[in-house]
Amino acid sequence: MKAEILAVGTELLMGQIANTNAQYISSRLPEIGIGVYYHGVVGDNPERLKQSLRLAMSRADIIILTGGLGPTQDDITKETVAAVLERKLVLDRTSLEQMEKFFRNRNREMTKNNLKQAWFPEGCTIIRNSTGTAPGCIIEDKGKTIVLLPGPPSEMKPMFEETVMPYFASKSEYRLESMYLRVFGIGESSVEDAIMDLIDGQTNPTIASYARDGEVTIRVTAKYPKNGDGMDLIRPVEDEIRRRLGDAVFSNDNSSLVKVAAKLLFEKKKTISVAESCTGGLLAAKLTDVPGISEVFDRAVVTYSNRSKMEQLGVRQETLERYGAVSEETAVEMAVGIRNVSGTDIGISVTGIAGPGGATDEKPIGLVYTALAHRDGVTAKKLHLWGNRAKIRNMACLHVFDMIRRYLTRPEDFN
Ligand code: ATP
Ligand code: MG
Repeated sequence: MKAEILAVGTELLMGQIANTNAQYISSRLPEIGIGVYYHGVVGDNPERLKQSLRLAMSRADIIILTGGLGPTQDDITKETVAAVLERKLVLDRTSLEQMEKFFRNRNREMTKNNLKQAWFPEGCTIIRNSTGTAPGCIIEDKGKTIVLLPGPPSEMKPMFEETVMPYFASKSEYRLESMYLRVFGIGESSVEDAIMDLIDGQTNPTIASYARDGEVTIRVTAKYPKNGDGMDLIRPVEDEIRRRLGDAVFSNDNSSLVKVAAKLLFEKKKTISVAESCTGGLLAAKLTDVPGISEVFDRAVVTYSNRSKMEQLGVRQETLERYGAVSEETAVEMAVGIRNVSGTDIGISVTGIAGPGGATDEKPIGLVYTALAHRDGVTAKKLHLWGNRAKIRNMACLHVFDMIRRYLTRPEDFN
């Protein structure tokens, strides 16, 4: 089954809003075995909508339209779809009554143009809208299924989840299930290289990898009969990928690196404090995105100046003068310092050059040192990051979370 998602709205073409409806629907349909083959966007114009719909019907079995179901003049989706399918519009009394009730409950007067929302292409199944006024509908037409949903995501999503998903799920004999293996510390091309034969050789499950924000995600998707278990097909592939990539794979349930690090801190009951320079509080912000982190996270200090590094963390003036603020020596003293001050199990530090200024020949943009201090010692890491300021700061944080993860899974490597 091939699906096309056709978003209707001039606002989308003008760039005033992003087409999140298409993204949402696309992310859900594969679970019930429907492949999304095309996305389309068209303005509130009957002629162009007709053309777009005809094109969609020529190449897809399922066409899902969103937007343009409202009461105003520029809401033309239903009328235009009816015209293309050569169906007349008929009044649905239930919709009319529900709309009257909706306005009565809100003490608002129902204007005449709202009536238009109670008219539907003949022979369709109506999708009730419990969060707004415009109902949607499903039309079966010569082997094609056309679904009309309202534009506002808050209305579209519940209707899609409660009516559209079950409608298609009951028709399909198989399901799709995906596992997302997330990888850190190996570049996209190396990951691909390591699993290329798997990617090429597999038809079920299918395997695809993509890079995003400094990490690589490998998606493994299995197609399986309705009453089977997709994981039976996925697990052996997961094992093989893990065998090849080792502990660079940090999660298999789509958890982010910070979540994985936080989970380990919870499990091992280890407390943490951080001393940040070039990340300027970003590490703390990311840590505090994790609910419940207060259990293990004691404090973060942003020590940007040399003076603050000395005052807050006890970094020695001599170290700063001799090696500079961006050096392994300073990172080590920062990590040890924050651990001592806070009395946590783990002390973390980051110091680096995020650019665009501040670089020298020996210390280029993207040079970052991080250190992890623990009961038995301290381990520092020198990083050569690239990209703009935001990217370098973000990558530095990821390296820190990875270091925490590695320390908590294999502390012996840190002695
Ligand atoms: P209404 O009854 O609110 O007029 P409608 O079905 O007529 O609903 P539109 O008028 O096309 O929908 O869009 C209403 C609002 O819904 C837009 O202003 C926008 O905020 C949101 N919206 C529409 N289409 C999309 C889309 N594809 N992705 C995300 N949001 C959308
Ligand atoms: Mg509208």
